Amino acid sequence: MVSRVIPVEPFDLVLFGATGDLARRKILPGLFHRFAVGQMPGSARIIGSARSEMSAEAFRADVARAIREVAPDTPEREETLAAFLERLDYVAIDVGGEAGWSDLTRCLRNDVVRAFYLSVAPSLFAGIARQLDAHGLATRDSRIVVEKPFGRNLDTARDLNAGLRASFAEHQIYRIDHYLGKETVQNLMALRFANSLFEPLWNATHIDHVQITVAESLGIEGREAYYDRAGAMRDMVQNHLMQLLCLTAMEPPAKFTPNSVRDEKVKVIEALDPVPPEDIARGQYAAKAGGDGYLDHVGNPDSRTESFVAMKVHVANWRWAGTPFYLRTGKRLRARESEIAVFFRDPPHTIFPGTGPLKGNVLAIRLQPDEGIRLQTTIKDPGPGGFRLAGVSLDMSFADALGEEAQAPDAYERLLMDVIRGDQTLFMRGDEVEAAWAWIDPIIARFDDSRDRPAPYDQGSSGPEEALMLMHRDHRRWRQIGG
Ligand code: NAD
Repeated sequence: MVSRVIPVEPFDLVLFGATGDLARRKILPGLFHRFAVGQMPGSARIIGSARSEMSAEAFRADVARAIREVAPDTPEREETLAAFLERLDYVAIDVGGEAGWSDLTRCLRNDVVRAFYLSVAPSLFAGIARQLDAHGLATRDSRIVVEKPFGRNLDTARDLNAGLRASFAEHQIYRIDHYLGKETVQNLMALRFANSLFEPLWNATHIDHVQITVAESLGIEGREAYYDRAGAMRDMVQNHLMQLLCLTAMEPPAKFTPNSVRDEKVKVIEALDPVPPEDIARGQYAAKAGGDGYLDHVGNPDSRTESFVAMKVHVANWRWAGTPFYLRTGKRLRARESEIAVFFRDPPHTIFPGTGPLKGNVLAIRLQPDEGIRLQTTIKDPGPGGFRLAGVSLDMSFADALGEEAQAPDAYERLLMDVIRGDQTLFMRGDEVEAAWAWIDPIIARFDDSRDRPAPYDQGSSGPEEALMLMHRDHRRWRQIGG
């Protein structure tokens, strides 16, 4: 199956923070890739901006280095790269000051799509938006893209929203959660709403529970200071896990339009019950023999920040009453693995003598690694000699099913092109982010007030004992990480 590439309209993209880690690792290589496959038109331009004074030539050389580090080395690459670099320009701006803005104004065209990507610390968002407005750059059709974290609680998220909305309308603001750019996450919507098989069963009558796991094998290397102020709740649950929960639990939107989809997601967040303390397990990865534990990494023996959290969540509405969603995420776990596993109820009765109780089907939607969908079913164990049953999985790995052509683009590539297209479906709306914080804040406040430390867990394990107990108490089991 050949994936179709539909070129986007010509654009000027201003990338603030163009010399930073995210720009060099994801955004610029992502744009290069879209250019290489013909989606970014030859007349599009990318204007890098950061504090450092440097020439456009020096910026291009730096971008070439960044792309060579991440883009595959093919014979065509250097030629394509040279053509891509011609599309780049650079303007030095310290966004706190007045210099540079008029240079930027001169760089921009009036007859193409205009987007500003703020790959800088969130504390700079409002100031940049204000300057863009003051210099007449925030035209009615221009777009502004902001990175996570979008606040560290409801109040800071509200301030960020107010700062952006002072200069841009909501339909111009693109809040990134790169999980939404993942192919499988979008496939979850296709699976649910483009097939008639699942939706009739997608409710508490037929689904026993849902497990959403985002496990990482790495620790917090290179982000120690940020992470110790955030923890797993702010870093992962408030955004990525919440998005996966919303897409799994939401009602079918009437149309696939940005606001119809996001309306349904907000309703899920607003339906979430508060989580009692006994339904949450927190953990912190312990030191190995030679140190190297969470507390060593952050250099603070008293840190009570969680590097793991597991919780039972109830979506209190007609569809989901009585079907819990279990969420879990953590660092330094057994494997890097993200999946949504939907556990259907056990068959109510068995007609097969001697086989014991029958197991419910499990639909596992894998986000990483090896994106795909697997349906656990029960079949007859082949061969003569009695009637035995066996579990087999109907396995659809996207790479196998769709071939190399379907190689999923990086989430950022998809999202960048959506910005140019003006499609906000895969971006978080302001009220959605605030609703998520409003639900998370009391949980974090309880962590802060508690004298309890997160439970230590072994590196390379599935998390602390407390997380296992959370499930055992309900006579259920977590799916094995890295299984
Ligand atoms: P970074 O520190 O590597 O880069 C920051 C960039 O901002 C640099 O180009 C720097 O020159 C520029 N900058 C800083 N102060 C400035 C000022 N006063 N005026 C103009 N430019 C200024 O940061 P990063 O890791 O690239 O992260 C950028 C944003 O993306 C942050 O909001 C971060 O939370 C978010 N983010 C990063 C990652 C990642 O993997 N790095 C992942 C998710 C989200």
